[in-house]
Amino acid sequence: MNKLKSDINEIEGVYRFKIDIPFEVKSVCIYLFKIGEKRILIDAGLNFGDWPKLFFSALNKKQITLKNIDYCVVSHSHVDHIGLIKKFKRKNPNIKILMHEIARDLMKWQTNVNNYEAVENAANDVAQQMIKFGVNEKQGKRIVKFFITWSKMIRYHEPDEVLNDNDEIFFDTNKLKIIWTPGHALGHICVFDEKKRYLFSGDHILSRITPHIGNFIVNPELNKKYEKYDFNNILKLYLESLDRIDKLNPKIIFPAHQEVIYNPHERIKDIKKHHSQRLFEISSLIKNNPMTPLKISKIHFGENLDEMNTFMALSEVVSHLIYLEELDKVKRMEKNGKILFFS
Ligand SMILES: [Zn+2]
Repeated sequence: MNKLKSDINEIEGVYRFKIDIPFEVKSVCIYLFKIGEKRILIDAGLNFGDWPKLFFSALNKKQITLKNIDYCVVSHSHVDHIGLIKKFKRKNPNIKILMHEIARDLMKWQTNVNNYEAVENAANDVAQQMIKFGVNEKQGKRIVKFFITWSKMIRYHEPDEVLNDNDEIFFDTNKLKIIWTPGHALGHICVFDEKKRYLFSGDHILSRITPHIGNFIVNPELNKKYEKYDFNNILKLYLESLDRIDKLNPKIIFPAHQEVIYNPHERIKDIKKHHSQRLFEISSLIKNNPMTPLKISKIHFGENLDEMNTFMALSEVVSHLIYLEELDKVKRMEKNGKILFFS
């Protein structure tokens, strides 16, 4: 394996700590900037292998220690964005950890040992659904295992404040606006500096790939609390979140992976186009030709995916099918215990 690299850049007054990871997205970025005297970190990286060491030594190179940092705003609850919150808190008990209420609720639930059975049940529900959508029993079991392992990888620390949509964090000279952007994760937020028109987008908007949409386990209380949102139709929520970001008219987007985006409006347009093409291709494929979502996914994304990516591709297809179903453009039927979609 190649040695992992860290790369620190200053981009328009924002430090970017870009550190390699041995996975598909290739690197994870943490951003650091100042408003007045306060230092703010966006995201908390990955607690895996050499990543923490590389991050702290990169910080050192800039003569900054954790003690000099006032806030860490977490974009969402995935392990490559929350990895070091516990370590940050240990190194600086005064740092304020901020995250969306849903990110807090989900992680708190997933990491509480008393809830392991409930987490397993929720994972089972997802697996049962995926079995209906085409995967076999054995793959279903591995889906359950994936969610349980994932939950156990979370090093959770209670946030100092929870954030909600449209919240503002005030500083002497400026403020940061929080935009709730469900899609890639339910508790996903973007952070907007209105004065500079910088947007820190987490995984909501990336420069080269479209973020994965779908695939969650949810605690039952959360569903109740957010009852007026249809978390099932996650693609719809994602596309609406994209429009909200577009309306803010950001000048630069700083994403948590890949490259900084200098043409936000164009990039958002491209991502929307990508999804409408996928919607069109999926509904054309099943015209008078009912198929399970797994079969659709294999035709659409190819057969040669590893198990993890097969599951991601499947949940991506399902999010598009549910979106189309709600628009009455596709229908579902049941045959031999499997669900087939057609248009
Ligand atoms: Zn990520």
